Amino acid sequence: MKNIILLAPPAAGKGTLANDLKEKYGYVHLSTGDMLREEAKEDKEVKDALEAGHLINDDLVFRAVKSKLNKLGNTNYILDGFPRTLDQAIWYSNYLKENNKDLGVVIYLDVDKKLLEKRVLTRLICPKCNISYSTSNKKFLPKKSGICDICNSALENRSDDNIESFNKRYDVYQKRTSKLLDFYKNLNVLERITEVDPIKVLEKASEYVK
Ligand SMILES: [Zn+2]
Repeated sequence: MKNIILLAPPAAGKGTLANDLKEKYGYVHLSTGDMLREEAKEDKEVKDALEAGHLINDDLVFRAVKSKLNKLGNTNYILDGFPRTLDQAIWYSNYLKENNKDLGVVIYLDVDKKLLEKRVLTRLICPKCNISYSTSNKKFLPKKSGICDICNSALENRSDDNIESFNKRYDVYQKRTSKLLDFYKNLNVLERITEVDPIKVLEKASEYVK
């Protein structure tokens, strides 16, 4: 199996794919936030930065990523939210080279903006189990309107699920990610998935990670 860097705009289904890959192949899912919180347990500088709520600088992020990857050894992993910038991507490539490791594959969920917008605006989330529902897709409708299937909590809209906030998040994402996409395209490790049905997305991803 190949290690994965997962890139996707907001609401493209990144969480679902990461979960499916975890279940099907035993990948470890690494988000930047989780790696930083783990590092904070034994690294006072990271701990202080997190507690102060400052923007975490790259040096600290690199420390967290490095110690997590060193601990993982040969376990396959999905990077989610890292690398975020070209600088981080270059650092990560150098890290891999120094450690004789393969980058694996970069999977980009290339979903049409109009569809993402629709998903965001019709998304309901269970505040307790964090599961998403959708009022625009029969497959993801809750069984009882407005109520979580699993825990019966009242479903909520995410506070940032509105059109202005979506457009802002999408633009920031596009700007940042276009550089990453070029970088990985040049390395010949980029795979785009344009499917939107989670089952088909997983099928495609399964081909790429072999
Ligand atoms: Zn629930």
